[in-house]
Amino acid sequence: TSFLFYSGKNVVWFRPQSFKQMLILKHKYPDSKIVVGNTEIGVEIKFKKKYYPILISPKLIKEMNNIIIKDECVQIGAAVSLKDVNAFFQDTIKKYKGKAKILEAVTDILHWFAGSQIRNVASIGGNIMTASPVSDLNPIFMACSAKIIVSSLQRGKRKLTIDQNFFQGYRKVAIDKDEVILAIEIPFTDEMQYFKTYKQARRREDDISIVTAAFNVKIDKQQIVEEIKLCFGGMGPTTLFALKTSDSLKNLTWNEDMVNVAFKSLNNELMLDNSVPGGMPEYRKSLCLSLFFRFYMYVLNEIK
Ligand code: FAD
Repeated sequence: TSFLFYSGKNVVWFRPQSFKQMLILKHKYPDSKIVVGNTEIGVEIKFKKKYYPILISPKLIKEMNNIIIKDECVQIGAAVSLKDVNAFFQDTIKKYKGKAKILEAVTDILHWFAGSQIRNVASIGGNIMTASPVSDLNPIFMACSAKIIVSSLQRGKRKLTIDQNFFQGYRKVAIDKDEVILAIEIPFTDEMQYFKTYKQARRREDDISIVTAAFNVKIDKQQIVEEIKLCFGGMGPTTLFALKTSDSLKNLTWNEDMVNVAFKSLNNELMLDNSVPGGMPEYRKSLCLSLFFRFYMYVLNEIK
């Protein structure tokens, strides 16, 4: 079957009609770029002198533009706009209440994510692939161990967890050039699970964050930590999973002693030297500690 394409002097733009066609194009042109909101690609072309001669639009591909509620998670097509994600999640939160704490965190952060012009077009897949160290969404995806479904023509589908191995370096993810992100799965939460995200920027609205944080904890009835994940943006070349600190908090009681253990450990684990891009290493570290303290207070209020 055929599909629409425009060919200009410098760029060819394809609009495949099926996921299969998309995979064929990505196989044939592994250096091509999938373009959704163009809010990263456009900036790279205009300000960073990047040249992308082959662009592919996923607008007509159903599987990449759907949102499906499953038993354990919500599956969002990689090309769904942030505005549509927000609207859908607001609805789902009302229906699923306590089970939808991660969706709540996503809607909380989308309120502070760029402006409506960007949110109207920008996609989740574009945010993950760009892998900005100050992404507002990736710390959430890492803290909840979100899964992404990717596919290539030759090797078919595979599922990856967004964990400490997913972001491999500055703006580099564990996805091959001929692979396309189909969708992302965000899990539902348990009753004794708490999840929050925080963003600190210079301006409250429409600004790049200095630090972002996402925290996920499961505690038992005795208020002992069963599982915990502390993830940060703005603390290195990639979204960071504070693995050592997270491990050291397991089996501790949710009280001030636990906070002190967390502070000591984060102080060692979140190391930025003075030459770090963006500067302010000490300030950024103390922001991370303060944001964790906010989370501690939030959970304490919930469980008392
Ligand atoms: P595009 O530019 O269309 O694509 C980006 C990259 O992802 C490309 O390399 C593309 O090939 C790849 N890609 C897209 N979809 C797929 C797929 N399905 N499979 C494989 N590869 C894919 N980000 C924040 O986190 N927080 C902010 O507050 C924020 N504010 C911003 C404000 C402005 C003014 C601008 C211009 C950008 C801002 N951003 C922010 C960054 C940007 O908006 C986001 O990263 C957005 O999610 C990118 O999505 P997009 O659809 O526009 O990506």
